[in-house]
Amino acid sequence: MIDNQKNKVIVIGGGFGGLNVVSTLRKSSKDVLLIDKKNHHLFQPLLYQVASAALSPADIATSLREIFRSCKNVTVMMGDVVHIDKSKKEITLKDGAKESYDYLVIGIGARHSYFGKDEWEQFAPGLKTLRDALTIREKVLLSFETAERLDDPMEIEKYLNFVVIGGGPTGVEMAGAIAEIAHKTLFKNFRKIHPENSKIYLIEGADRVLPPFPNSLSKRAKKDLEKMGVEVITNKIVTNVTAEGIEIGEEKIQAKNIIWAAGNQVSPLLEDLQVERDRQGRVIVEKDLSIPGNPEIFVIGDAAHLKSKKGPLPGIAPVAIQMAGYVGKVIKKDIPKEKRKPFRYFDKGSLATIGTGKAVGFMGKLRLTGLIAWLGWGLIHVAYLIGYRNRFTVMLNWVFHYVTGIRGARLVYKSIDEELPKKDPSSK
Ligand SMILES: Cc1cc2nc3c(=O)[nH]c(=O)nc-3n(C[C@H](O)[C@H](O)[C@H](O)COP(=O)(O)OP(=O)(O)OC[C@H]3O[C@@H](n4cnc5c(N)ncnc54)[C@H](O)[C@@H]3O)c2cc1C
Repeated sequence: MIDNQKNKVIVIGGGFGGLNVVSTLRKSSKDVLLIDKKNHHLFQPLLYQVASAALSPADIATSLREIFRSCKNVTVMMGDVVHIDKSKKEITLKDGAKESYDYLVIGIGARHSYFGKDEWEQFAPGLKTLRDALTIREKVLLSFETAERLDDPMEIEKYLNFVVIGGGPTGVEMAGAIAEIAHKTLFKNFRKIHPENSKIYLIEGADRVLPPFPNSLSKRAKKDLEKMGVEVITNKIVTNVTAEGIEIGEEKIQAKNIIWAAGNQVSPLLEDLQVERDRQGRVIVEKDLSIPGNPEIFVIGDAAHLKSKKGPLPGIAPVAIQMAGYVGKVIKKDIPKEKRKPFRYFDKGSLATIGTGKAVGFMGKLRLTGLIAWLGWGLIHVAYLIGYRNRFTVMLNWVFHYVTGIRGARLVYKSIDEELPKKDPSSK
């Protein structure tokens, strides 16, 4: 190990941000410790495909140890960081273990926010982790199975109603995927119910879906969703979520399946930094992505709020990746704060998929829709996936799904008896 006064780098989080900081520092003179509470890097943009039974968890996740296997200067540690002590330059893990650092990079991402109504989470799971995706997959598939076992048409309807709250890219993807499951994948799979009669609602508080996209693309996404059988409701705020459905003021939609795709919030761990944070809990970082008063601490990705004329940068993978590249270089060269050039984000545009063969996207003034946008979306996602195995299996699954319409991961582990209403033993 090279004797260097600023040698020890701790990176918290092996997501898009953390992973790319460590990659920039691989084979450098720095002694890097990557800590994540999970043992894998997760490719969140394809999480909805696990939730909708198109892909399996291992197709979109890669072991962090495997990724850095040949980097002798990188140590991977599985652990949950619960405390940061700026004055001692030390972090504490949940089991009480402590690690000290010269540089600290925080890339802990975000969780979903229920805007103070945390009790809604039990009825409307969000989608951030593999566990979330499997919970949603199970809920959706079990609903059709339960509906098939019921007799009361009103009860059956509740199980065949699906509500997605939040019309951003994740909500649009999820609503489109459920429509495909119900109307195509499960066609002719059941003898009593008709999954193709399922109702899928997508509810967005703003006046259009995909609010960060140009207006024309929001309109196109709405049209495509409606063609696929999704009822798009805009300008409406959900006021209550229960086990039986949702309320929008006086209006009620009865549904056993509700998916939350609205709002983000960052972990309270960032409170320890004792610096200004925004309403979502993101740290307001300086132009070099460090925090005020501590040039050795950086916050990147979804956990960071970098002020700009157009507002904070969006919580998307390219932002986290570019921030990571910048911070990695600053650390690698030990650039002092006064000599660091401000971080600049290069916006390459955005793509959102709606269903098989349907997507929308923009790059500068260029607008893409339909099959071309969908192919572009697919190629970019495969290119950014970690590992050749995952790229290969994802492409193979997509081709198979495109040709046959079959989803290969339709597995339910939970017992249906936990879902079915209890029968009165005296009734025949
Ligand atoms: C469903 C979904 C779809 C998306 N689709 C797209 C898309 O199509 N295109 C796009 O560009 N972006 C998309 N995004 C956003 C993109 O995934 C995020 O912007 C990106 O992952 C942010 O990277 P990050 O490194 O900041 O955080 P993350 O990738 O979320 O990584 C954070 C890591 O920190 C770890 N961690 C958290 N807290 C702790 C702790 N206390 N101790 C130790 N480890 C911790 C977590 O386990 C995780 O591994 C999507 C996100 C979701 C959820």
